[in-house]
Amino acid sequence: MNPGEAGEMRRPRGNLVALVAALAPLLLVGIPEDDGGHPGRLPRVGRPQRPLSVLLISVDTLRADHLGVYGYDRPTSPWLDSFAKGAAVFENATTPRTCTTPAVSSMLTGLYPHRHGVREIYQRLGPDPVTLAEILRAAGYETAAFVSNYVLRRDFSGFDRGFEVYDDRFPSREPDRPVHERVAKDTCEAAREWLARDHGRPWFAWVHLMDPHRPYRPPERFFEPRGFRPLPPDLHLSRSEKGIDNLEEFIARYDGEIRFADRELGRMVGALKSSGVLSDTLVLFTADHGEEFGEHGQWLGHGTNVFEPCAHIPFVLRMPDRSGAGARVRAPVSLVDVVPTVLEAIGLHANVEMAGSSVLRWLRSPDDPGGVRFLERLDALRAARTADRKLIATLEGGEVARLDAFDLRGDPAEAKPIPATGLGWSDLERWLRDFVQRSVDPGLDLDALVRASRERLGSEARRALQALGYL
Ligand SMILES: [Zn+2]
Repeated sequence: MNPGEAGEMRRPRGNLVALVAALAPLLLVGIPEDDGGHPGRLPRVGRPQRPLSVLLISVDTLRADHLGVYGYDRPTSPWLDSFAKGAAVFENATTPRTCTTPAVSSMLTGLYPHRHGVREIYQRLGPDPVTLAEILRAAGYETAAFVSNYVLRRDFSGFDRGFEVYDDRFPSREPDRPVHERVAKDTCEAAREWLARDHGRPWFAWVHLMDPHRPYRPPERFFEPRGFRPLPPDLHLSRSEKGIDNLEEFIARYDGEIRFADRELGRMVGALKSSGVLSDTLVLFTADHGEEFGEHGQWLGHGTNVFEPCAHIPFVLRMPDRSGAGARVRAPVSLVDVVPTVLEAIGLHANVEMAGSSVLRWLRSPDDPGGVRFLERLDALRAARTADRKLIATLEGGEVARLDAFDLRGDPAEAKPIPATGLGWSDLERWLRDFVQRSVDPGLDLDALVRASRERLGSEARRALQALGYL
């Protein structure tokens, strides 16, 4: 990140900004003492140069290509499509890991999974990585999170660190919805209530919705199957899904869940706009990963590979001064870029290790092809992603056993690997091999780690996770 770049941005206007600037000396607060991490590990941060509020929205299991703003032909996202007109749309955003807790850990820390240490779904964020909420709280922000996915519960994930409010309430099991999931309406209402308060200082709110995650159960009016494509006969379906043999019905239900989430987000952000708060607020909309419908061998799920259906995520950034509005950014970006982007936008320097970098520079040069971002899956796969290429390494014993190269412009479905020769490919291979070197730890027993994480689950948690398809 280059904090100097932030100075070139126009200073947004607004009463809250003016008030907070006047009160700035009061914001030089101490470091919160106990949020679950090691005391004293947090850097002392100053005050933000531009104390904007920050709304981070992540939607679980939301593949980019099922949104209108990314070219989908079904009307799944009328609110986002309209909102994105005043924002920058990053066309090549990727998750570093197609699995919830590792991906969210990257979003909250700016680190790849091998650095923050959360490699699998049941793992808890360790005490060392510093989170965005911790940094912003130390800088005087009011912090709150509203999460819908059971695995983001504070006792599972440890993501509550740095949040003064961590709303992870889940409805008890209901007869018509036998899984622990909070629907978009409930999560957004809780967030809306908090957002409507008179905060008197800048705030950071993280809202994570769960709706597009399986089981797909949108309100009836939000889905309409079109056509018929058979499912593999041996596919494991939950009780509520039994009897559905049409892939198109599942996709229509998935799309309906997106439509439902989009409506609720529209109401929540609309309330911010009506109250004038949006003019002092940075909004970032993204997802933890996508979903696959059999394109590369995974059906109605995610987590097993690094192909685009699960890896390509939306990334829409609305700056309060509208810089970058309407831009379609080519450069590859990743969830590891979220923290550095927010810090640059508010003009706050924190001396914390981060793998990502701020994406704000791309607002000024959206056609620049940018650099490279990486994906990983335990110690089985690594991938390097540029604006139009992907190189996937299959690992054996920590070594690269195979390389598959894809031209994403000519072959967006990643159907046919091509020879990784010619201009640019050798650089990409070198970067990927370097990432393999840095990210594979031969001494780490990942199986034991995953086993240990599973063993700490109680029986209630096991039942809930089974219902969500995680176990
Ligand atoms: Zn997820």
